[in-house]
Amino acid sequence: GVPGRPLLEVESVVMSFAGLRALAGVSLALEAGSVVALVGPNGSGKSTLVNVISGIYRPTAGRVVFEGVDIAGWQSYRIARLGITRTFQDPRNAPNLTVRENIIMGANRLYRSSALAVALDTPAARAEEDHFLSRVEALMAAAELKPYADTEIRVLPYGIQRLAEVTRALASEPKLLMLDEPAAGLSEAESAQLARLVRLARDHGVAVLLIDHHMDFLAELVDEVVVFEAGDEIYRGDMDGMRSHPAVITAYLGI
Ligand code: ADP
Ligand code: MG
Repeated sequence: GVPGRPLLEVESVVMSFAGLRALAGVSLALEAGSVVALVGPNGSGKSTLVNVISGIYRPTAGRVVFEGVDIAGWQSYRIARLGITRTFQDPRNAPNLTVRENIIMGANRLYRSSALAVALDTPAARAEEDHFLSRVEALMAAAELKPYADTEIRVLPYGIQRLAEVTRALASEPKLLMLDEPAAGLSEAESAQLARLVRLARDHGVAVLLIDHHMDFLAELVDEVVVFEAGDEIYRGDMDGMRSHPAVITAYLGI
């Protein structure tokens, strides 16, 4: 990173779709090892911001500065290579693979041995493989997913599929992890499990941008909350301040 600067700086980002302004010039900074929540009513631009940062959309204007480099408009595969990982509102696992296989896929970005070294089963490739697989097992244990390791994703409850997806994202050792409504449809126990996983990531220095509206879930977790309405920030600060902020109550909590 660049000393003295946040990991991610979103500067005056505008995103227009055929005349509709989904983002009206938003700015946001995110430090390594911190959790920022993004809340706001449906259609306020939360997912669009994640899509801009991850390179799915090219912003109409503004800058997305990651480790000092403006990545706005880069292809998403290049952005992913920098260590920016995200999940989508709908889980996107490989349904016919097991939990372990899905998490291994997430970790593949880190695997360095050449195809030839793997084919020849060289000691170095074998050692990397062992290290790699033991990391996957440790992560599954931390995520409390060991009981499901050998089960195909498609037969598991929705909440466990979600947790597996977040774990797969973490397996890529991202610097920035963006989670779009990860707690939607989760039971209380699963939400608590997810919260532990997010805290684990944060404690390892990951910056987490978390879209969610479950206040109890967020209260335990976030360093800062940003509230959007119609593509604009209407509040930034702590959770208590948000709950009593007049614009937030009108725009969001009042509905
Ligand atoms: P949120 O995630 O806060 O519910 P979104 O970011 O998904 O909101 O959407 C913000 C606005 O941008 C909505 O009006 C939505 O219809 C619009 N929008 C998002 N993506 C597209 C797109 N690809 N094409 C046209 N409009 C879009
Ligand atoms: Mg959304």
